[in-house]
Amino acid sequence: MLTYQVKSLIKDPGLSLSVHEVLEPEQLILGGERIRFLTPVTIEGSLRHIGGWIIEFKGTLDGAVQMACSRCTKATHVPLHSDITQRYIADRQENESGDDDVEVYQDEVIDLTDLINSEICMAIPMKVLCRADCQGLCPVCGKDLNEGPCGCSQDDTDPRWDALKSLLQ
Ligand SMILES: [Zn+2]
Ligand SMILES: [Zn+2]
Repeated sequence: MLTYQVKSLIKDPGLSLSVHEVLEPEQLILGGERIRFLTPVTIEGSLRHIGGWIIEFKGTLDGAVQMACSRCTKATHVPLHSDITQRYIADRQENESGDDDVEVYQDEVIDLTDLINSEICMAIPMKVLCRADCQGLCPVCGKDLNEGPCGCSQDDTDPRWDALKSLLQ
């Protein structure tokens, strides 16, 4: 999957091939347990011969994942979107374009698997918030402060500092 025979494109610059892929959540193992894909990831785009032995993939990636809010741990829906451009050059050809970002393809076959995997990884944020003003959890009792205040002391010193202070005494 995600491999394309580009022999027919090599004949003439300007020829292109459309790319439509739907990757079901069970095919997506990225992120292990931490990330759950809520929808398939779809890839729409094209491979175009842009001259020489160079084929350019241009497309978009869309999907959605569920991640824990980094303040309150609530399951949060995170849309994924990425615009992708990647050039591939035939292995028979020296890369004279000076462009280091070009991948090599062999036997007239382009494999988009690595590209798509890394684009999905990059589209997933490191941290998410369920909402911009999420109040998080009380560090003392663990109550979700979005649901209202808890009975703990309103003293906002971080309890970790107290531990440190007692060590210093
Ligand atoms: Zn939250
Ligand atoms: Zn509390």
